[in-house]
Amino acid sequence: MLKTALTQLFNIRVPVVQGGMQWVGYPKLVAAVSNAGGIITALSQPNPTALRQAIRETRALTDKPFGVNITLLPTINPPDYEGYARAAIEEGVKIFETAGNNPGPLIKFFKSQGCLVIHKCTTIRHAKSTEKLGVDVLSIDGFECAGHPGEDDIGGLVLLARAAKELKIPYIASGGFADGRGLAAALALGAAGINMGTRFMCTVESPIHENIKHKIVQSTEHDTIHIFRTLHNTARVFKNKVSTEVVAIEKRPGGAKFEDVRDLVSGQRGRVVYENGDPDHGIWSAGLTIGLINDIPTCQELLERMEHETEEIIGNMSSLVTPKAKL
Ligand code: NAD
Repeated sequence: MLKTALTQLFNIRVPVVQGGMQWVGYPKLVAAVSNAGGIITALSQPNPTALRQAIRETRALTDKPFGVNITLLPTINPPDYEGYARAAIEEGVKIFETAGNNPGPLIKFFKSQGCLVIHKCTTIRHAKSTEKLGVDVLSIDGFECAGHPGEDDIGGLVLLARAAKELKIPYIASGGFADGRGLAAALALGAAGINMGTRFMCTVESPIHENIKHKIVQSTEHDTIHIFRTLHNTARVFKNKVSTEVVAIEKRPGGAKFEDVRDLVSGQRGRVVYENGDPDHGIWSAGLTIGLINDIPTCQELLERMEHETEEIIGNMSSLVTPKAKL
């Protein structure tokens, strides 16, 4: 068994967290991952009352720990972040994943309620400032990730090696992880575990349409694209008709304003992709791990496989070290 600061702090078996995923992090998937750490995505729920219901639903499906993600990034209709936070606290949630801009007030609130907070960031600069806010675990999100990688474009290898040297609290590795080899590498880089998103989208319990799961299996690491580069809100998404059109609009002479792409990029349109299974209907997040995903296992099969792979790789690596010859 793998024992890390993450498995101990969150009382989970495998040091893997299923991070927040808009329109994917629903109770069924969260509960299925909960031998590791499942996270409900608050903003996938239309309002705080619906989030309460999702928390109750998840609790009915698992007696294992799970958390709630609140992501603070630009949105078309500003969500009631405070309402979601209060609802989750009142429902007894004890683990939160925060991400995005200006998380200070939210982190302060969760800590004042005795909760554990994982904060996701894409630079060591932000990781260090959030460390000072009292978060318990940092999630270091490399450029390989799905969704918003920030604007600094630093891959996980360098970010995690810096994290090992410079952070004082436990951190998990995010972006580019989909198998036991990745988990073993993350542990070697000093992480207490990993966060996975795209990999969990492609599981039996994932709520998205089967066509999209098969599309993920067929795709390679060349099938993602960055939108919003010119708007400084970069997002790695699946390369399809809509995302290619958005990038073409951004490249027009004189550039683009958000209003020029608003209808194309709307999350409500992206949500339909997961419901009707047409991969070209709208924007949907996908990380570079899309090139590592070749099957649709149950969450339990996936996590057991990863646990065994990781243990085997770590065990085999010890044979690389030969005792020093005596002089
Ligand atoms: P939405 O429909 O409100 O917006 C669609 C996309 O446009 C989002 O990526 C959003 O960040 C972006 N956007 C909105 N207003 C913008 C502006 N003025 N300038 C630049 N970009 C703008 O979003 P949604 O799909 O309903 O998602 C809700 C929230 O969850 C958003 O904040 C979104 O960014 C976030 N989200 C995060 C991730 C992640 O990787 N952490 C993935 C998916 C969604």
